[in-house]
Amino acid sequence: MECCICGKKAVTRANVDGVVLDVCSDCVKFGKAAPKVIMPNKQKQSFLPEMEISIKFDISKIVKSEREKMNLTREQLGIKLGEKESVIRKIEEGWMPPFNTVNKLEKFFKVTLKETTPDIKIKKHVKEELTIGDMLKIED
Ligand SMILES: [Zn+2]
Repeated sequence: MECCICGKKAVTRANVDGVVLDVCSDCVKFGKAAPKVIMPNKQKQSFLPEMEISIKFDISKIVKSEREKMNLTREQLGIKLGEKESVIRKIEEGWMPPFNTVNKLEKFFKVTLKETTPDIKIKKHVKEELTIGDMLKIED
């Protein structure tokens, strides 16, 4: 980590004109000392890159299959989660619910319905490495 102001080794972070920068011990005087841990969701336009958590694309399929595994109707699942039947239906039809609903579903089904976004690399890697032989193996 380099100091954003002079390029020397950064030792801390400081709030300089409202922007949190990595700074060295010399440049810390240019800003107010900022807390080291930046809480996610605090400010969307944060200067530092953050891991973004998103809801899994196939949440609708997961919810539907987990619900059917447990032999619950949409209404029964809704009651257990404190959600309306229409919310469950919308999720199964592909609607992305808010995180608090996702959290409830994860807890109830004991599954993961969220993912962190920088997974593009992995997917690309798999695609490049995949040969016809591999594809046959997967189908088995
Ligand atoms: Zn510096």
